[in-house]
Amino acid sequence: MDVTIETLTGDITKVTVDAIVNAANSSLMGGGGVDGAIHRAGGPTILEECRNIRRDRYPDGLPTGEAIATTAGNLPAQWVIHTVGPIWRGGKNDEDDLLYAAYTNSYRCAAELGAKSIAYPAISTGVYGFPKERAASIVWRFVREVAEPGPLERVILVFFSAPDRMLFLSCKNR
Ligand code: ADP
Repeated sequence: MDVTIETLTGDITKVTVDAIVNAANSSLMGGGGVDGAIHRAGGPTILEECRNIRRDRYPDGLPTGEAIATTAGNLPAQWVIHTVGPIWRGGKNDEDDLLYAAYTNSYRCAAELGAKSIAYPAISTGVYGFPKERAASIVWRFVREVAEPGPLERVILVFFSAPDRMLFLSCKNR
């Protein structure tokens, strides 16, 4: 099967794919950055579903590195996959593995739902402070080990700025 890996610059809420990944926080109650943009553009049903998830499955919040799906409200997608990336605490607190887990668990969640395409933001590289180059090398590992083998047909990595996208591309062979 042919798998396409794409990168693009822009607002992830505008990308038409089956599943959009949200860089959420463990409360699942919304926040800034990508999280805020997804809830604003998607409307209140997403938050309502997140509340139900908290009540029924994760009363203490979604653990870092895990992923869970809701529908996507008004977004041009079928599902939002909420995941929690690690907060950067210097690099010796499992940040790398947890970032990798956030990418792979989101991917598996989308695959289980039957999604054929998925769009990711640059998880943890905003307010969570993960260094962008180090995050990029982890995302490239995810691309090689998980995304390229499939089963999803299209994986889109969305960057909020052109320099962020260029930096990511420049880290490919590290
Ligand atoms: P985290 O808390 O996981 O760091 P943020 O939302 O603060 O998440 O940032 C993650 C990345 O997403 C940052 O690189 C930021 O520039 C980018 N970003 C913020 N808003 C959007 C958006 N609407 N679409 C795509 N990327 C975005």
